[in-house]
Amino acid sequence: MILKDSEFGDIIVRKNTLSSGIKFSVSTSGRLAMSVPKSTPNFLIKRLLDQSRKQIRTKLPVKNPETQRARDTKKQLLKKSAKNYLPYRLDFYAKKYNYTYTSLRLSHANTRWGSRSSTGTISLNIGLMNLPEPVRDYVILHELAHINHMNHSAAFWAEVSKHDPNYKRHRKVLKMFTPGV
Ligand SMILES: [Zn+2]
Repeated sequence: MILKDSEFGDIIVRKNTLSSGIKFSVSTSGRLAMSVPKSTPNFLIKRLLDQSRKQIRTKLPVKNPETQRARDTKKQLLKKSAKNYLPYRLDFYAKKYNYTYTSLRLSHANTRWGSRSSTGTISLNIGLMNLPEPVRDYVILHELAHINHMNHSAAFWAEVSKHDPNYKRHRKVLKMFTPGV
């Protein structure tokens, strides 16, 4: 459930069977999240929120409503450009270097640029669209190389370097960015 609040914007309320108390946190979107026991009535949730305002203000990095909305818009645009670009780029390199993968999943995790599952699905982070193209290509080639090597062995890196001779530099640049939107 989403609670609209004039100070904190959209508040994500999770009613949880297992939680015994009330817990505040900040979601990846910068929104305030509240976890309360399942049986908590809505009027009580609002009262608990009011009682905790001061504490939230000083302790939690909640983004203001305008920033939350700006982030949503940014994410939407990023998602759209990722959808229009990453599947084709992945396909291009897969064909060029003879790789087969099962499917592509676009992710927006905060910690990973990409991954490859044992079932052959490749995940690419929509945040890749914010990276310089050679670095973005490196991530794609890295995940494709995992099709033949499920680890980061010397043989794996040899394969990556065959397709991206500058991969060491690209890795370094990649570390200067974080995937979170
Ligand atoms: Zn890897």
